[in-house]
Amino acid sequence: MPPGNYGAPPAPPGAACAKCGTFVTAGTRFCPQCGVAQTATKCAACSADVPPAAKFCPGCGKPAAS
Ligand SMILES: [Zn+2]
Ligand SMILES: [Zn+2]
Repeated sequence: MPPGNYGAPPAPPGAACAKCGTFVTAGTRFCPQCGVAQTATKCAACSADVPPAAKFCPGCGKPAAS
């Protein structure tokens, strides 16, 4: 943030839910609106990172555990 910028308060750390777009603060593990996991998980089959809300592993195509 540049010095002297006092316009808007800093947004809390976090990200929009990948499924419903609700802003979920950092550290929250599940979206309070739709319940989708907000943290990437590891595929049990190939250990690839599976993004939140993904239905299938991007590494091997197996259904992602929910
Ligand atoms: Zn959501
Ligand atoms: Zn996989």
